[in-house]
Amino acid sequence: MTIYTGPVFDMARTQFQRIADHLDIPADERDRLLYPKRAVTVSCPIHRDDGRTEVFEGYRVQHHLTLGPTKGGTRFSPALDIGEVAALAVWMSWKCALAGLPYGGAKGGVAVDPRALSLRELEALSRRYMQEMIPFVGAHTDVMAPDMGTNEQVMAWFMDTYSMHRGHTVTEIVTGKPVACGGTLGRREATGNGVVYLIARAMERLGVPLAGTTAIVQGFGNVGSVTAQALMARGVKVIGVSDHTACYFDRHGLDVPALLRHAEARGALAGFSSELAADPATLLTQPCDILVPAALERVIGGQMAAQLQCRVLAEAANGPTTPDADLVLEQRPEIFVIPDILCNAGGVIVSYFEWVQDLQQFFWDADEVNTKLNAVLERAFQAVMDRAAQRRVAHRTAAMAIGVAKVRDAKAKRGLFP
Ligand code: NAD
Repeated sequence: MTIYTGPVFDMARTQFQRIADHLDIPADERDRLLYPKRAVTVSCPIHRDDGRTEVFEGYRVQHHLTLGPTKGGTRFSPALDIGEVAALAVWMSWKCALAGLPYGGAKGGVAVDPRALSLRELEALSRRYMQEMIPFVGAHTDVMAPDMGTNEQVMAWFMDTYSMHRGHTVTEIVTGKPVACGGTLGRREATGNGVVYLIARAMERLGVPLAGTTAIVQGFGNVGSVTAQALMARGVKVIGVSDHTACYFDRHGLDVPALLRHAEARGALAGFSSELAADPATLLTQPCDILVPAALERVIGGQMAAQLQCRVLAEAANGPTTPDADLVLEQRPEIFVIPDILCNAGGVIVSYFEWVQDLQQFFWDADEVNTKLNAVLERAFQAVMDRAAQRRVAHRTAAMAIGVAKVRDAKAKRGLFP
C-alpha cells in the first residue's frame, strides 16, 4: 500500500512487474525503478465568478531524474487523483526512453471539470496551479505539456505566469504552446499524426492497403479528432466516433469534416445527428479494421478484449488496455497491437523538438519537424518489432522492456548516490 494505490497505479505496477520478470530484474532493484522520485500536492484557491472562493487540489509527479529533466502533460479532470497522475508519469518514463528522449516521465493536473469553469475561472486556475508549482519545475528540472482537459491556451498561461515570476520570458518551461509564443509548428497535430504514421506501418506489415479500410475512434479531443482527420486524408473510412457527450456510427463512413466543424462550434459532439446515434458501450466491439481508443484509460478490459473485431488496435490514449486484456490479446495474434507508449509518442517527441528549439531560439519549418518526428517513430517502431520477433513476445512487452531496460542501464551506470 502506498499513496499511489488505486486502479490506475495498480495497472502500471502490474505491467511493470511483468516486464521486470521478463527482464529478470532482481527484487531489490524494482522499487527504485517503479516508484516516483517526487510527488507534490498543492491547493489552488481561485475566486469563482459568483464571488465564492473555491480550492482545487493539484498534483505533479516526477518519476525519475536519471536521464535529464522530467517531462509530461497536465490533466484537468474531475476524478483525478495522485495514483492516476503517478501511473501516467511512470508510463511517460518508459515512453521517453523507448523514443530515445533525454527525459524522465512526469505528469500533473488538477481535480476539476474544466468545462464547468468560465474562461476567466480557467485562466485563474491555470495560473494559480503554475504559481504553486514554481518551486518544483524548471526548464532543466521538469517541463509541462498539455493533456486531457488542457490545451495550447492553458500552456500559454503557464508560460506567462512562470515568466512573470522570473522577470523574463522563459518559453522552454512548457511545450504545446501556441506557435505565436514560442510553440513549434506541428505540435498540436503531432500525437494524432504519429498515431496514423504507425497505423500505416502496421497495415504495411499486415499487407493490407490503408486506403479503403475502416476505423473507429473513441474520444474526439486533440488526439482523437486529429487522428480521425489524418485517417480520412489517407482514404480510411471513419465509421464510428464518440466523446463524453455522444457516439455516432455509420457503416458507410461518417462525415469527419462536418463532425470537426460541429465539435469546434459546440465544444462537443452532442447534437450532431439523431439518426447516427449509437450505443457507446458497444462502439469498441463493432467490426472495423482499425480501432483507436483516444480518450480514457482502462476502457478495454479482459471481457471486451475477447470481443474486439479489429485488425489493428492503436492505443492513442494512455493506458486504455488493462493487464487482464493484455493476457487475452496475447492469445489473439490476429490483432496487431500498437501499444500506447509507442502509439502516442508523437506528442512528446514533438514536445522535445519544441523544447530544443526554445533552448536554442532557433525554429524549424513544419517539414523539418514532421520528417524528424517520423524518423524517431520509425526507429522506435522497428526496435519494438525486432524485439517482439526475436523474443517472441507481445508488442507491449517488447516496447516496455526497451524503455525499462534503458532507464535501468542508465541508473546502473550512474550508480547509487551517495
Ligand atoms: P482532450 O481533452 O483534448 O480530449 C479528450 C476526449 O475524450 C474528449 O473528446 C472527451 O469528450 C473524450 N472523452 C472523455 N470521456 C469519454 C468517454 N467516457 N467516452 C468517450 N470519450 C470520452 O484530450 P487529449 O489530449 O486528446 O488526450 C486523449 C488521450 O490521449 C489521453 O489518454 C491522453 O493522456 C493521451 N495523450 C495525449 C497527448 C497529447 O498530445 N494531447 C499525447 C499523448 C497521449
